[in-house]
Amino acid sequence: MKTPVLFLLAVLVAVGSLADAQAPQGTQSQGALGDRPGAGREPEFPVPSIRDYKPRSTLVVPQHPVPRAKFPVIDIHSHQPSPISAEQFETLVRSMDPLNLRVLVNASGESGEGLRQAIAAIQRSRHRDRMVMFADIDFSRVGPGFGRRAARQLEADVKAGALGLGEISKEAGMTYKKTDGTRLRIDDPELDPIWEAAGRLAIPVFIHTAEPQEFFAPIDYANERWLELALYPGRRRPPSGFPRFEELIAERNNVFRRHPKTTFIAAHFGYHANDLARMGRLLDELPNVYTESGAILAELGRQPRAAHDFFLKYQDRVIFGKDSYQPDEFPYFWRTFETSDEYFDYYRDYHAFWKLYGMGLPDQVLRKLYYQNASKVVPGLPRAAFTD
Ligand SMILES: [Zn+2]
Repeated sequence: MKTPVLFLLAVLVAVGSLADAQAPQGTQSQGALGDRPGAGREPEFPVPSIRDYKPRSTLVVPQHPVPRAKFPVIDIHSHQPSPISAEQFETLVRSMDPLNLRVLVNASGESGEGLRQAIAAIQRSRHRDRMVMFADIDFSRVGPGFGRRAARQLEADVKAGALGLGEISKEAGMTYKKTDGTRLRIDDPELDPIWEAAGRLAIPVFIHTAEPQEFFAPIDYANERWLELALYPGRRRPPSGFPRFEELIAERNNVFRRHPKTTFIAAHFGYHANDLARMGRLLDELPNVYTESGAILAELGRQPRAAHDFFLKYQDRVIFGKDSYQPDEFPYFWRTFETSDEYFDYYRDYHAFWKLYGMGLPDQVLRKLYYQNASKVVPGLPRAAFTD
Protein backbone atom coordinates (compact mmCIF):
# COMPACT_ATOMS: atom_id res chain seq x y z
CA MET A 1 0.00 0.00 0.00
CA LYS A 2 2.94 2.27 0.62
CA THR A 3 3.85 2.76 -3.01
CA PRO A 4 0.46 4.08 -4.22
CA VAL A 5 0.31 6.54 -1.30
CA LEU A 6 3.81 7.80 -2.06
CA PHE A 7 2.94 7.96 -5.72
CA LEU A 8 -0.19 9.96 -4.94
CA LEU A 9 1.86 12.33 -2.78
CA ALA A 10 4.38 12.77 -5.56
CA VAL A 11 1.59 13.58 -8.01
CA LEU A 12 0.07 16.07 -5.58
CA VAL A 13 3.43 17.76 -5.08
CA ALA A 14 3.96 17.92 -8.83
CA VAL A 15 0.52 19.41 -9.41
CA GLY A 16 1.13 21.90 -6.60
CA SER A 17 4.41 23.08 -8.08
CA LEU A 18 2.78 23.35 -11.50
CA ALA A 19 0.14 25.60 -10.04
CA ASP A 20 2.85 27.78 -8.51
CA ALA A 21 4.97 27.89 -11.65
CA GLN A 22 5.54 31.39 -12.96
CA ALA A 23 5.66 31.00 -16.70
CA PRO A 24 4.13 33.25 -19.35
CA GLN A 25 0.55 32.30 -20.12
CA GLY A 26 1.41 32.27 -23.81
CA THR A 27 -1.21 31.27 -26.32
CA GLN A 28 -4.66 31.09 -24.81
CA SER A 29 -7.46 28.72 -25.82
CA GLN A 30 -8.27 30.77 -28.93
CA GLY A 31 -11.90 30.59 -27.92
CA ALA A 32 -12.56 27.10 -29.32
CA LEU A 33 -12.07 24.00 -27.23
CA GLY A 34 -11.40 20.94 -29.31
CA ASP A 35 -13.56 19.83 -32.20
CA ARG A 36 -16.92 21.19 -31.15
CA PRO A 37 -19.71 20.73 -33.65
CA GLY A 38 -19.46 23.62 -36.06
CA ALA A 39 -15.74 24.15 -35.48
CA GLY A 40 -14.12 25.64 -38.54
CA ARG A 41 -17.14 27.74 -39.45
CA GLU A 42 -16.49 31.03 -41.15
CA PRO A 43 -18.33 34.21 -40.08
CA GLU A 44 -21.11 35.21 -42.45
CA PHE A 45 -20.21 38.90 -42.11
CA PRO A 46 -16.96 40.64 -42.95
CA VAL A 47 -14.50 40.19 -40.09
CA PRO A 48 -13.77 43.56 -38.43
CA SER A 49 -10.23 44.75 -37.87
CA ILE A 50 -8.95 44.88 -34.30
CA ARG A 51 -9.40 48.64 -34.43
CA ASP A 52 -13.05 48.40 -35.47
CA TYR A 53 -14.32 45.81 -33.01
CA LYS A 54 -15.30 47.76 -29.88
CA PRO A 55 -18.21 45.85 -28.33
CA ARG A 56 -20.39 47.73 -25.84
CA SER A 57 -20.08 46.06 -22.45
CA THR A 58 -23.43 44.96 -21.04
CA LEU A 59 -21.87 44.26 -17.65
CA VAL A 60 -23.66 45.99 -14.80
CA VAL A 61 -21.39 46.44 -11.77
CA PRO A 62 -20.72 49.24 -9.28
CA GLN A 63 -18.51 51.97 -10.75
CA HIS A 64 -16.36 54.38 -8.77
CA PRO A 65 -14.37 56.69 -11.02
CA VAL A 66 -11.77 58.60 -8.98
CA PRO A 67 -11.13 62.05 -10.43
CA ARG A 68 -9.05 63.10 -7.40
CA ALA A 69 -6.45 60.97 -5.62
CA LYS A 70 -7.40 60.11 -2.04
CA PHE A 71 -4.10 61.48 -0.70
CA PRO A 72 -1.69 64.13 -2.00
CA VAL A 73 0.59 62.82 -4.72
CA ILE A 74 4.20 63.29 -5.75
CA ASP A 75 4.74 62.29 -9.37
CA ILE A 76 8.36 61.20 -9.57
CA HIS A 77 8.23 60.73 -13.33
CA SER A 78 7.07 63.88 -15.06
CA HIS A 79 8.40 65.56 -18.17
CA GLN A 80 8.00 69.32 -18.14
CA PRO A 81 9.52 72.23 -20.01
CA SER A 82 12.72 73.60 -18.53
CA PRO A 83 12.91 76.39 -17.85
CA ILE A 84 9.13 76.53 -17.42
CA SER A 85 7.53 79.90 -18.17
CA ALA A 86 5.31 81.59 -15.58
CA GLU A 87 2.34 81.07 -17.88
CA GLN A 88 3.07 77.37 -18.47
CA PHE A 89 3.44 76.86 -14.72
CA GLU A 90 0.08 78.54 -14.00
CA THR A 91 -1.67 76.29 -16.52
CA LEU A 92 0.12 73.25 -15.16
CA VAL A 93 -0.81 73.90 -11.52
CA ARG A 94 -4.41 74.53 -12.51
CA SER A 95 -4.48 71.02 -13.97
CA MET A 96 -2.64 69.46 -10.99
CA ASP A 97 -4.89 70.78 -8.24
CA PRO A 98 -8.12 68.90 -9.08
CA LEU A 99 -6.11 65.64 -9.37
CA ASN A 100 -4.51 66.20 -5.92
CA LEU A 101 -1.09 66.21 -7.57
CA ARG A 102 1.11 68.23 -5.23
CA VAL A 103 4.65 67.94 -6.58
CA LEU A 104 6.09 66.98 -9.94
CA VAL A 105 9.64 65.75 -10.30
CA ASN A 106 10.82 67.06 -13.64
CA ALA A 107 12.74 64.01 -14.78
CA SER A 108 13.65 65.72 -18.03
CA GLY A 109 16.83 66.47 -16.17
CA GLU A 110 19.11 69.39 -16.87
CA SER A 111 22.74 70.15 -16.20
CA GLY A 112 24.97 73.21 -15.75
CA GLU A 113 23.49 76.48 -16.97
CA GLY A 114 20.28 74.80 -18.20
CA LEU A 115 19.70 73.41 -14.70
CA ARG A 116 20.36 76.78 -13.03
CA GLN A 117 17.81 78.43 -15.32
CA ALA A 118 15.25 75.66 -14.76
CA ILE A 119 15.57 75.95 -10.97
CA ALA A 120 15.52 79.78 -11.09
CA ALA A 121 12.25 79.68 -13.06
CA ILE A 122 10.66 77.46 -10.39
CA GLN A 123 12.03 79.56 -7.52
CA ARG A 124 10.76 82.88 -8.83
CA SER A 125 7.29 81.48 -9.63
CA ARG A 126 4.24 81.47 -7.35
CA HIS A 127 4.53 77.66 -7.15
CA ARG A 128 8.03 76.98 -5.91
CA ASP A 129 6.88 73.99 -3.86
CA ARG A 130 5.15 72.28 -6.81
CA MET A 131 8.09 71.14 -8.93
CA VAL A 132 11.66 69.98 -8.43
CA MET A 133 14.46 69.25 -10.90
CA PHE A 134 16.65 66.24 -11.39
CA ALA A 135 20.09 66.51 -13.00
CA ASP A 136 20.93 65.03 -16.36
CA ILE A 137 23.97 63.52 -18.03
CA ASP A 138 24.42 63.30 -21.78
CA PHE A 139 25.61 59.75 -22.43
CA SER A 140 25.78 60.08 -26.19
CA ARG A 141 29.59 60.49 -26.42
CA VAL A 142 31.21 58.39 -23.72
CA GLY A 143 34.99 58.00 -23.99
CA PRO A 144 38.00 57.79 -21.67
CA GLY A 145 37.68 60.12 -18.67
CA PHE A 146 33.96 60.73 -19.26
CA GLY A 147 32.82 59.19 -15.98
CA ARG A 148 35.03 61.37 -13.76
CA ARG A 149 34.07 64.56 -15.58
CA ALA A 150 30.36 63.68 -15.43
CA ALA A 151 30.63 62.85 -11.71
CA ARG A 152 32.21 66.28 -11.03
CA GLN A 153 29.43 67.98 -13.00
CA LEU A 154 26.82 65.97 -11.10
CA GLU A 155 28.28 67.21 -7.83
CA ALA A 156 28.00 70.81 -9.06
CA ASP A 157 24.42 70.18 -10.26
CA VAL A 158 23.41 68.82 -6.87
CA LYS A 159 24.95 71.90 -5.21
CA ALA A 160 22.86 73.98 -7.63
CA GLY A 161 19.71 72.27 -6.36
CA ALA A 162 19.13 69.08 -8.35
CA LEU A 163 17.48 66.48 -6.09
CA GLY A 164 18.26 63.38 -8.13
CA LEU A 165 19.81 62.12 -11.34
CA GLY A 166 17.62 61.20 -14.26
CA GLU A 167 15.72 60.10 -16.04
CA ILE A 168 18.70 58.19 -17.41
CA SER A 169 17.58 57.71 -20.98
CA LYS A 170 16.81 54.26 -22.35
CA GLU A 171 19.17 55.17 -25.19
CA ALA A 172 22.04 54.87 -22.70
CA GLY A 173 22.70 51.15 -22.87
CA MET A 174 20.58 50.43 -25.92
CA THR A 175 21.52 52.70 -28.83
CA TYR A 176 24.27 55.13 -27.80
CA LYS A 177 27.73 54.39 -29.18
CA LYS A 178 30.94 55.18 -27.37
CA THR A 179 33.59 57.31 -29.04
CA ASP A 180 35.32 54.05 -30.06
CA GLY A 181 32.19 53.03 -31.99
CA THR A 182 31.04 50.19 -29.71
CA ARG A 183 27.65 50.11 -27.97
CA LEU A 184 27.65 51.85 -24.60
CA ARG A 185 26.63 49.20 -22.09
CA ILE A 186 24.99 50.70 -19.02
CA ASP A 187 27.39 48.65 -16.85
CA ASP A 188 30.48 50.06 -18.63
CA PRO A 189 33.08 50.67 -15.89
CA GLU A 190 33.67 54.14 -17.36
CA LEU A 191 30.32 55.14 -15.81
CA ASP A 192 31.09 53.81 -12.31
CA PRO A 193 32.27 57.20 -10.93
CA ILE A 194 28.81 58.61 -11.73
CA TRP A 195 26.88 55.95 -9.81
CA GLU A 196 29.38 56.24 -6.94
CA ALA A 197 28.97 60.02 -6.84
CA ALA A 198 25.19 59.67 -6.65
CA GLY A 199 25.62 57.41 -3.62
CA ARG A 200 28.05 59.81 -1.95
CA LEU A 201 25.74 62.76 -2.65
CA ALA A 202 22.75 60.76 -1.32
CA ILE A 203 20.60 61.37 -4.39
CA PRO A 204 18.61 58.69 -6.21
CA VAL A 205 19.36 57.60 -9.77
CA PHE A 206 16.18 57.37 -11.78
CA ILE A 207 16.93 55.00 -14.62
CA HIS A 208 14.99 53.77 -17.62
CA THR A 209 16.47 50.61 -19.10
CA ALA A 210 15.07 48.52 -21.96
CA GLU A 211 11.49 48.65 -23.18
CA PRO A 212 8.42 46.44 -22.89
CA GLN A 213 9.49 42.88 -23.64
CA GLU A 214 7.24 42.61 -26.69
CA PHE A 215 9.10 45.44 -28.45
CA PHE A 216 12.00 43.00 -28.83
CA ALA A 217 9.83 40.07 -29.95
CA PRO A 218 8.72 39.17 -33.49
CA ILE A 219 5.89 41.45 -34.62
CA ASP A 220 3.33 38.77 -35.39
CA TYR A 221 -0.30 38.25 -34.39
CA ALA A 222 0.77 36.67 -31.11
CA ASN A 223 2.57 39.87 -30.03
CA GLU A 224 0.63 41.69 -27.27
CA ARG A 225 1.82 45.05 -28.60
CA TRP A 226 1.25 44.32 -32.30
CA LEU A 227 -0.87 47.41 -32.92
CA GLU A 228 1.53 49.73 -31.13
CA LEU A 229 4.49 48.32 -33.05
CA ALA A 230 2.58 48.58 -36.30
CA LEU A 231 1.71 52.20 -35.51
CA TYR A 232 5.11 53.33 -34.21
CA PRO A 233 8.11 52.15 -36.23
CA GLY A 234 10.48 53.85 -33.76
CA ARG A 235 9.47 51.42 -31.00
CA ARG A 236 10.53 48.28 -32.86
CA ARG A 237 13.63 46.60 -31.46
CA PRO A 238 14.56 43.81 -33.87
CA PRO A 239 17.69 41.76 -33.07
CA SER A 240 19.36 43.11 -36.20
CA GLY A 241 19.70 46.58 -34.69
CA PHE A 242 19.32 46.25 -30.94
CA PRO A 243 20.61 44.28 -27.97
CA ARG A 244 18.16 41.79 -26.53
CA PHE A 245 15.78 42.50 -23.64
CA GLU A 246 17.53 40.05 -21.30
CA GLU A 247 20.95 41.47 -22.16
CA LEU A 248 19.83 44.98 -21.22
CA ILE A 249 18.21 43.80 -17.99
CA ALA A 250 21.35 41.85 -17.00
CA GLU A 251 23.58 44.89 -17.64
CA ARG A 252 21.25 47.13 -15.62
CA ASN A 253 21.22 44.68 -12.72
CA ASN A 254 25.03 44.60 -12.77
CA VAL A 255 24.98 48.34 -12.07
CA PHE A 256 22.49 47.90 -9.21
CA ARG A 257 24.65 45.15 -7.69
CA ARG A 258 27.95 46.91 -8.11
CA HIS A 259 26.75 50.06 -6.27
CA PRO A 260 24.89 48.92 -3.16
CA LYS A 261 25.28 52.34 -1.50
CA THR A 262 23.52 54.10 -4.37
CA THR A 263 19.73 54.26 -4.50
CA PHE A 264 18.29 53.37 -7.89
CA ILE A 265 14.71 53.85 -9.01
CA ALA A 266 13.98 51.47 -11.89
CA ALA A 267 11.51 53.35 -14.09
CA HIS A 268 8.43 51.63 -15.50
CA PHE A 269 8.57 48.81 -12.92
CA GLY A 270 11.88 47.85 -14.50
CA TYR A 271 9.71 46.39 -17.29
CA HIS A 272 8.83 43.49 -15.03
CA ALA A 273 5.24 44.59 -14.34
CA ASN A 274 4.12 41.59 -16.41
CA ASP A 275 6.13 39.31 -14.09
CA LEU A 276 5.75 40.57 -10.55
CA ALA A 277 7.44 37.51 -9.06
CA ARG A 278 10.56 38.46 -10.99
CA MET A 279 10.29 42.07 -9.81
CA GLY A 280 9.95 40.76 -6.27
CA ARG A 281 13.12 38.71 -6.59
CA LEU A 282 15.01 41.78 -7.80
CA LEU A 283 13.77 43.86 -4.87
CA ASP A 284 14.55 41.02 -2.44
CA GLU A 285 18.10 40.74 -3.70
CA LEU A 286 18.83 44.47 -3.94
CA PRO A 287 17.65 46.66 -1.06
CA ASN A 288 19.05 49.75 -2.85
CA VAL A 289 16.49 49.40 -5.65
CA TYR A 290 13.04 51.02 -5.82
CA THR A 291 10.60 51.09 -8.66
CA GLU A 292 8.04 53.38 -10.24
CA SER A 293 4.64 52.98 -11.89
CA GLY A 294 4.98 55.02 -15.10
CA ALA A 295 3.26 53.77 -18.24
CA ILE A 296 2.64 50.20 -17.01
CA LEU A 297 -0.81 50.64 -15.47
CA ALA A 298 -2.37 48.17 -17.91
CA GLU A 299 -0.07 45.44 -16.57
CA LEU A 300 -1.18 46.01 -12.97
CA GLY A 301 -4.84 46.38 -13.87
CA ARG A 302 -5.01 42.99 -15.57
CA GLN A 303 -3.77 41.16 -12.46
CA PRO A 304 -5.40 43.10 -9.63
CA ARG A 305 -5.02 40.36 -7.00
CA ALA A 306 -1.35 39.63 -7.72
CA ALA A 307 -0.66 43.36 -7.97
CA HIS A 308 -2.49 44.01 -4.69
CA ASP A 309 -0.39 41.40 -2.92
CA PHE A 310 2.80 42.73 -4.50
CA PHE A 311 2.04 46.31 -3.46
CA LEU A 312 1.39 45.13 0.09
CA LYS A 313 4.54 43.08 0.31
CA TYR A 314 6.74 45.74 -1.31
CA GLN A 315 4.86 48.75 0.00
CA ASP A 316 8.10 50.54 0.89
CA ARG A 317 9.63 50.10 -2.56
CA VAL A 318 7.10 51.43 -5.10
CA ILE A 319 6.88 55.12 -5.94
CA PHE A 320 4.10 56.74 -7.94
CA GLY A 321 5.11 58.02 -11.38
CA LYS A 322 3.10 58.62 -14.52
CA ASP A 323 5.56 59.62 -17.29
CA SER A 324 3.79 61.57 -20.08
CA TYR A 325 1.79 64.39 -18.48
CA GLN A 326 -1.84 64.04 -19.53
CA PRO A 327 -4.20 65.32 -16.82
CA ASP A 328 -7.13 63.22 -18.05
CA GLU A 329 -5.14 59.98 -17.70
CA PHE A 330 -4.26 60.25 -13.98
CA PRO A 331 -7.76 59.25 -12.79
CA TYR A 332 -7.25 55.80 -14.35
CA PHE A 333 -4.31 55.32 -11.99
CA TRP A 334 -6.30 56.48 -8.94
CA ARG A 335 -9.18 54.17 -9.85
CA THR A 336 -6.91 51.15 -10.37
CA PHE A 337 -5.02 51.71 -7.12
CA GLU A 338 -7.91 52.80 -4.89
CA THR A 339 -11.05 50.92 -5.95
CA SER A 340 -12.12 47.33 -6.48
CA ASP A 341 -14.00 48.23 -9.65
CA GLU A 342 -14.15 45.60 -12.37
CA TYR A 343 -13.70 45.54 -16.10
CA PHE A 344 -13.18 49.21 -16.87
CA ASP A 345 -11.44 50.81 -19.79
CA TYR A 346 -7.80 51.67 -20.02
CA TYR A 347 -6.94 54.84 -21.91
CA ARG A 348 -4.83 53.51 -24.79
CA ASP A 349 -5.99 50.65 -26.95
CA TYR A 350 -2.56 50.07 -28.45
CA HIS A 351 -1.07 49.42 -25.00
CA ALA A 352 -3.66 46.92 -23.91
CA PHE A 353 -6.35 44.80 -25.51
CA TRP A 354 -7.96 44.22 -22.16
CA LYS A 355 -9.85 45.96 -19.39
CA LEU A 356 -8.60 47.02 -15.99
CA TYR A 357 -9.61 45.88 -12.51
CA GLY A 358 -9.05 47.82 -9.30
CA MET A 359 -6.43 46.69 -6.78
CA GLY A 360 -8.28 48.10 -3.75
CA LEU A 361 -5.14 49.17 -1.89
CA PRO A 362 -5.46 50.11 1.79
CA ASP A 363 -4.84 53.72 2.87
CA GLN A 364 -1.48 53.00 4.46
CA VAL A 365 -0.15 51.57 1.19
CA LEU A 366 -1.67 54.38 -0.88
CA ARG A 367 0.08 56.99 1.29
CA LYS A 368 3.43 55.28 0.78
CA LEU A 369 2.85 54.90 -2.94
CA TYR A 370 1.60 58.45 -3.45
CA TYR A 371 4.10 60.45 -1.39
CA GLN A 372 5.82 58.83 1.57
CA ASN A 373 8.24 56.64 -0.37
CA ALA A 374 9.17 59.51 -2.69
CA SER A 375 9.81 61.78 0.31
CA LYS A 376 12.08 59.14 1.79
CA VAL A 377 14.06 58.44 -1.38
CA VAL A 378 14.30 62.08 -2.48
CA PRO A 379 15.04 63.87 0.80
CA GLY A 380 14.93 67.45 -0.54
CA LEU A 381 11.30 67.26 -1.73
CA PRO A 382 8.97 69.98 -0.41
CA ARG A 383 7.14 68.50 2.57
CA ALA A 384 4.74 71.30 3.40
CA ALA A 385 1.87 69.80 1.41
CA PHE A 386 1.99 66.46 3.21
CA THR A 387 0.38 65.87 6.52
CA ASP A 388 2.71 63.16 7.82
ZN1 LIG B 1 10.30 59.33 -18.67
